[in-house]
Amino acid sequence: MTTARSSTRPQLIDDVAQLRQRLASAREAGLNVGLVPTMGALHEGHLSLVDACRRECGLVVVTIFVNPTQFGPHEDFARYPRDLQSDLQLLAAHGADVVFAPQTEAMYRDRHCTYVEMTGPAETLEGDSRPGHFRGVATIVLKLFNLVQPERAYFGRKDFQQSLVVRRMVADLDLPIKIVVCPLVREPDGLAKSSRNVFLSQSERGRALSLSQSLVTARQMVSDGQADVAAIVTAMREKLAAADVEIDYVAICDRDTLRPLEKLDGPAVALVAARVGQTRLIDNELLEGPS
Ligand code: AMP
Repeated sequence: MTTARSSTRPQLIDDVAQLRQRLASAREAGLNVGLVPTMGALHEGHLSLVDACRRECGLVVVTIFVNPTQFGPHEDFARYPRDLQSDLQLLAAHGADVVFAPQTEAMYRDRHCTYVEMTGPAETLEGDSRPGHFRGVATIVLKLFNLVQPERAYFGRKDFQQSLVVRRMVADLDLPIKIVVCPLVREPDGLAKSSRNVFLSQSERGRALSLSQSLVTARQMVSDGQADVAAIVTAMREKLAAADVEIDYVAICDRDTLRPLEKLDGPAVALVAARVGQTRLIDNELLEGPS
């Protein structure tokens, strides 16, 4: 494997033609290309993906794009946090080579009318709660894959369903890209790191802990031998209700299909989405099933 170190600021590119040129010269130099797609407002979760990419790829390309098509009309696209200067500093410290941060018009040009529609794991949970979300995600991810043509692309388990949807798209469309799913990074008290955490007031942040705590409860019940999904979901819901958060969904599903389970008899995933004040948060935990 060929690797290159970069210690200075990454090259900031907002233009598709310039990006293609940069990638062509990297390939001529024999570098394998890794891609980390993000919406910016970077935190340690994102940076863990960049670190993994840096370890495994010769050229580290990070994209920063708040993709309008994956937000619903009443969601937080307009107020989503944006801080390119801080992102660039963090990415310099983590050795990113190229940051592609296009304007919306560069990604969705006049008369854009092509979208990726998916069924299967895209239709449940986030797909149910946020109609059109995965259509937007799959479309922008496929565009970025086509632009960058990475050998490897890095996603976080924080967005478990998204990583599944992307893996399915790559398999279904025969894309020659290895999808690497990195562990979920949490705050010391368990809160999953998220760009949206900045929206939480101090008291909301305390209540938001109920998401990760409900997942701890699920894990604990499973390790105590509980295999009845309804009982686990009830306990998780109680934890969330006690913190007065507005539950969107609590589900325990098959890890590959996201089909809801009734009995835990093997690897599964527990997923939760809830609104804390105005802020919608998601979290998940892998469950191994009773031994
Ligand atoms: P976003 O900027 O929220 O679209 O996230 C970009 C990528 O970073 C996605 O693959 C996320 O799953 C990943 N990511 C976000 N938060 C975390 C986290 N706390 N731990 C690990 N990966 C994360």
